[in-house]
Amino acid sequence: MTKLEVTELRKEFATRAEPLVVLDGVSLTLEGGQSLAVVGPSGSGKSTLLHLVGTLDEPTSGIVRLSDVDPFALGAKELAAFRNANVGFVFQDHHLLPQLSVLENVLLPALAAGSTNEAQRKHALELIDQVGLAERVDHRPAELSGGERQRAAVARALLMKPNLVLADEPTGNLDQENADRIVDLLVELQQTRPDTILIVVTHSGEVASRMQQQLTMQRGRLVDREEVSP
Ligand code: ADP
Ligand code: MG
Repeated sequence: MTKLEVTELRKEFATRAEPLVVLDGVSLTLEGGQSLAVVGPSGSGKSTLLHLVGTLDEPTSGIVRLSDVDPFALGAKELAAFRNANVGFVFQDHHLLPQLSVLENVLLPALAAGSTNEAQRKHALELIDQVGLAERVDHRPAELSGGERQRAAVARALLMKPNLVLADEPTGNLDQENADRIVDLLVELQQTRPDTILIVVTHSGEVASRMQQQLTMQRGRLVDREEVSP
């Protein structure tokens, strides 16, 4: 069973004046099958939290444990391998490489882990089919619509069968119809792979309501909706 345990996470950034406290003691526990929406004003620390939980950046203090592994105790190479195997990211901008086809982009996490094998190519094609891009396998990102690019990004995030999927405003650049489709894909993921944890940062109340739990980030702290103060 996948388990994410975040304990008293703090993140400060150095500034010329005093350190900027961006996360001020965030604790959180989620298990496989659970989904969480994080809402809250711009600059409140939502992206920083996802970066730390996804091990892209290290906390100033506090603990992140994913299925009993402390990723920040790993060496740089092991940490990169751990992240690649366990965490799938979807960003607001698709982050696809322009010179690669949809298939090559979706296969990138496998390439990063070494080489691609036939099973991974098959899985990539299945994912591309699931996100509705079967006819676009050989297209470059510039030849896709915004919604299609973001669906390719979702397929790429799922290639390594991560047990933690983190989406940072994944529908921020999309119209309603395409946004719904992205959220449908993320929700379906937990039906296909029930041991997955899903965390979505969003400005949309509608997207947030599709997740099982909703928390608000306010000045570096995670609070329940009813605790939000002006
Ligand atoms: P959100 O995603 O909720 O909009 P962020 O987590 O991106 O907020 O940022 C929270 C705060 O941390 C902001 O004030 C931002 O300017 C600051 N911040 C983020 N990254 C850095 C960094 N690398 N260096 C300095 N300040 C940063
Ligand atoms: Mg952000």
